[in-house]
Amino acid sequence: MGILEIQNVNKSFGGLKALQNVNLNIEEGTIHAIIGPNGAGKSTLLNCFVGKLMPDTGTVTFDGHSLLGKKPHEINQIGVSRVFQTPEIFSDLSVFENVMIPCFAKRDGAFELNALSRVQGQSDIRDKAEQMLIDVNMIDKRDMIASSMSRGDKRRLEMAMCLAQDPKLLLLDEPTAGMARADTNNTIELLAQIQDKRHITMAVIEHDMHVVFSLAQKISVLAQGTVIVEDLPENIKGHPKVQEAYLGT
Ligand code: ADP
Ligand code: MG
Repeated sequence: MGILEIQNVNKSFGGLKALQNVNLNIEEGTIHAIIGPNGAGKSTLLNCFVGKLMPDTGTVTFDGHSLLGKKPHEINQIGVSRVFQTPEIFSDLSVFENVMIPCFAKRDGAFELNALSRVQGQSDIRDKAEQMLIDVNMIDKRDMIASSMSRGDKRRLEMAMCLAQDPKLLLLDEPTAGMARADTNNTIELLAQIQDKRHITMAVIEHDMHVVFSLAQKISVLAQGTVIVEDLPENIKGHPKVQEAYLGT
């Protein structure tokens, strides 16, 4: 049994079958990569996990709950957090203020930017925000303004904001897209470190094979809307079906 189970998911856009009988099982505590050529259906699949798209048929079950028909914030409340391609942070606020906001949202169930001045003095929020920054190795940057940081540090900050919501499953759609090599390596190290410390399950969509093979314990390969192979990384590299999907031969 996986923490996230996808069974027989189909999704069409008009006449285009974007997902066809997709089955995917993500084991608790693992990093599971979803790879595949452009247009394979990776983002469509991810959108079915977060309440953005409703599959035509099939089931999506997380930790015993069906995710179908749930709103994005309800899915978030049961423990699924999503990391976007471009980090979603408050550029004008300090690193510490950015992290206090989701700590507050988690505690009080409301996301309010103007609650910030009120929670500044509350020790439970401050302690938790500090711990999140320690966990992503950013405590020394707590007073920096978010916009002044490197791409890799913005990703670190966004991860601290995600962790503040105490997720059981993190969904990452191309977390290193557009990054320079140093920031990519920084992000690989961060994700490995988070998994090591907190055993959070992660589903990562990623194009960069260096990232995939550095992190993933299991890989599913999507091509033309179907999972063509699901296997351990060592069995994926030379797999003829995978080469065929990528080379189009
Ligand atoms: P990937 O993320 O693997 O590159 P996508 O999931 O974005 O692939 O897209 C899969 C297929 O579905 C593509 O052919 C894409 O053009 C199509 N598609 C995705 N979203 C929509 C949509 N909202 N309306 C129509 N077609 C879509
Ligand atoms: Mg995509």
